[in-house]
Amino acid sequence: MTKYRTTHAGTLRSSDIGREVRLSGWVGRRRDHGGVIFIDLRDASGIIQVVLNPENDPAADETLRSLRSEYCIMVTGLVRARPEGTINPEMATGEIEVGVSELEVLSSAAALPFQIDERFDADEGRRLRYRYLDLRRPKMAANLKARSTAIRAMRHVLDDLEFLEVETPTLVVSTPEGARDMLVPSRLRPGNFYALPQSPQLFKQLLMVAGVERYYQIARCYRDEDFRADRQVEFTQLDLEGSFWDQDDVLDTLEAIVARVVEDVRGTEIPRPIPRITWTEAMARYGTDKPDTRFGMEIVDLGGVFAASEFRAFSAALADGGAVRGLNAGNQGLSRAGLDKLVADAQDLGAKGLIWMVVEEDGSLRSPVAKFLSDDELAGVASTMDANPGDVLLIVADGAKVVSAVLGQLRLRLGQPEDHDQLQFLFVVDFPVFEKTEEGKLAPAHHPFTAPRSVAEMRNSPETAISRSYDMVLNGAELGSGSVRIHDPEVQSQVFDVLGIGHEEAEARFGWFLQALRFGTPPHAGFAIGVDRFVSILQNERNIREVMPFPKTQTGADPLTGAPGKVEEAQLKELGIDIRPDVRAAWSDDS
Ligand code: ASP
Repeated sequence: MTKYRTTHAGTLRSSDIGREVRLSGWVGRRRDHGGVIFIDLRDASGIIQVVLNPENDPAADETLRSLRSEYCIMVTGLVRARPEGTINPEMATGEIEVGVSELEVLSSAAALPFQIDERFDADEGRRLRYRYLDLRRPKMAANLKARSTAIRAMRHVLDDLEFLEVETPTLVVSTPEGARDMLVPSRLRPGNFYALPQSPQLFKQLLMVAGVERYYQIARCYRDEDFRADRQVEFTQLDLEGSFWDQDDVLDTLEAIVARVVEDVRGTEIPRPIPRITWTEAMARYGTDKPDTRFGMEIVDLGGVFAASEFRAFSAALADGGAVRGLNAGNQGLSRAGLDKLVADAQDLGAKGLIWMVVEEDGSLRSPVAKFLSDDELAGVASTMDANPGDVLLIVADGAKVVSAVLGQLRLRLGQPEDHDQLQFLFVVDFPVFEKTEEGKLAPAHHPFTAPRSVAEMRNSPETAISRSYDMVLNGAELGSGSVRIHDPEVQSQVFDVLGIGHEEAEARFGWFLQALRFGTPPHAGFAIGVDRFVSILQNERNIREVMPFPKTQTGADPLTGAPGKVEEAQLKELGIDIRPDVRAAWSDDS
């Protein structure tokens, strides 16, 4: 194939016995047995055992002795069956080995900062600092490969559907998408800044105005967020948009994409069609807008059962417009202390309290509050919650939001999917247009370019108005979001108006975009899938960093290159930037 190899290490099988091969790769595990050296030779395709016997070539003895882990070598030799008893069924190449007749060291390796071996878990800081070594580990190599396979599958589907792959700029103007912008100072216009895109949202909408009709891009997005677990300042989306398109068209396309990705990465088929539920239903049944539907344990409403209750905690919550809801957690085998712990957990999650009931053998309910409830109420709970002996029933009474959130969290703690490899996709549709910020202001639940279901509803009851946006959820994680967009500039102005962005401010901030909407904008809709999250779930990785080639740490730093770093004074001067003295003073602490 090339002067370095006639084949790839991981592809050899018993059928190759007797073949002379040349291989190049890295020295993995090495074992010395009475002068004979066994090496796991690793290349991008996998691993094969190569056997070096100094007796075959005494001159090579010294080279052999000098071989260390991660040396890059080239060997020539004969593929042969492994001796009886040394076959390794765990390895794809475990039935064979290569008896080496020629060895050349292509380059040596310095002492390693950690073992390149799945069996050792190095500290993450070190792994990131020496990412190029970390990526040599078979699991990480498999993650990179899965990522590439996933992206190729996406391209296949979209190319077949005649989508155009279009790049949009990464030096843009700040747009209101909810997160803090990453800024880049301009040298040619000192004092001015580019923003890095939070997503290509407005550009893809401009492409619709431009008549592209079907757009996609594997897009890098930047959000300067405070680090919550499993977020990165820069991440990758499969971004897409279509004209003369509606919600169902988007969801059907997404379904085709994820089905193909799963097929190519996992070799399995997903159940289709992907179920769709409304946001309101998701909140009521699962207490979250991203339900993990790999298990049931749904939340049930007990408002009807307790409508006339004399038990204060329930009657007060209902009288205040709140809710009483419950969760049948099944037979959890909990002791009294375990149940008390659940009460404390619920309080930590924000509930005033949690009422537990245990279903006895005879079907009666044991609970600290049983004596305050009527027989009818107890019977109503048992039948509504489908109670069986041994089950633990958990009930929360509070404002509807708190009830949902608390039961939703408890559900996740107590419920377990039977099969962790299972993939359960779900579309959640009909999100609200707005949500309330902590300061009590209205903010777009998705982004301000999302079409409300009805403009009148949005104006009259903005807090409950429904939008034409939707999310895709996989195993309880949000894979992506999208919406039908506003294509009428008048509706766009009305949304800004409800958000408290006046006409002048809107014109000043995104007049360029509003202007475009005035030139015969087609109805359009789209979506973006988080590639990192998707691949991490497919690969059973808990953290998206495991499927990103060169991720940053939780604090946005790159231990490999030292980014973010300081720059030359001359560069700052050219940019017209002065670093404040107090910031400079703090430098001495962290440099
Ligand atoms: N731009 C949106 C986002 O990044 C996705 C979309 O609405 O298409 O979440």
